[in-house]
Amino acid sequence: MQVFKDIDSIQDFIKQQKQDGRKIGLVPTMGALHNGHLSLVKKSLAETDVTIASIFVNPIQFNNPSDLEKYPRTLENDRALLESIGCHSIFHPEPSIIYPNPPQLKFDFGDLDKILEGQFRPGHFSGVGIVVAKLLNIIQPHVAYFGQKDYQQFLIIRRLVNDLNFPVRLVCSEIVREPSGLAMSSRNQRLSPEERKAASALFRALQLARENLAKKDWVEIKNEVETTLIQIGLRLEYLELADRKSLAVVQKYNGDVPLILLIAGYVGQIRLIDNLFV
Ligand code: AMP
Repeated sequence: MQVFKDIDSIQDFIKQQKQDGRKIGLVPTMGALHNGHLSLVKKSLAETDVTIASIFVNPIQFNNPSDLEKYPRTLENDRALLESIGCHSIFHPEPSIIYPNPPQLKFDFGDLDKILEGQFRPGHFSGVGIVVAKLLNIIQPHVAYFGQKDYQQFLIIRRLVNDLNFPVRLVCSEIVREPSGLAMSSRNQRLSPEERKAASALFRALQLARENLAKKDWVEIKNEVETTLIQIGLRLEYLELADRKSLAVVQKYNGDVPLILLIAGYVGQIRLIDNLFV
């Protein structure tokens, strides 16, 4: 497996692969890989001929400097994991390669980047949009793989790709969970064993909310969930029911259109997100 650190060398590699008629799959990640990331890589390996995993902790999508500083970086382990499942190559550039000049460009995705994650992480989705646009332009994959875990991010990327006519097919892949139900996340590495146990309450809250949707008023469900989470020591940032296509928040459940439940909360210092289709 080859590790490319600069743009010219990965582009030479891809040019050769395309000349040989191979289909390219890209899995963008920030490293500290777990089985969620690996499920995307496996999907790409099954559906394309050459899979590239990018590992880049994108500074401009962090709205909290300490979160960026403490973000786990485990390159050697990531490399071994990717190699063990047969990934073909890694693109692992330094920040100065991706941002030779301080980035001035900003994206505005309308309503989609002001709600939910966007409300609590201003500027986050602009940073995500810029790095994904750069990766898609550098690699020019046929297919790019993303996780449902970051569902709002997937919708943002879909809008970016549609609005700017990027010639790529996008895949949104289901959430991989720990046996406790906790959605796998690189940030889970920073949880203590007790916090990790408590964190699984986020998924249980989503399940409980979904079970109660047809029985109780949505406001009542939200209040109950919040009280339960506080008792476990979690701080709820949001729990919302939203339209699955637009992410417009819904105040009343009616079984007509596909919906999604989205949750964000703090376990100690660590902010976690999760979601569940309704
Ligand atoms: P990240 O490294 O956190 O930027 O994630 C890279 C990609 O992996 C994103 O498309 C995420 O949505 C996806 N991902 C993260 N966690 C999971 C998970 N538990 N299951 C499936 N995909 C995931």
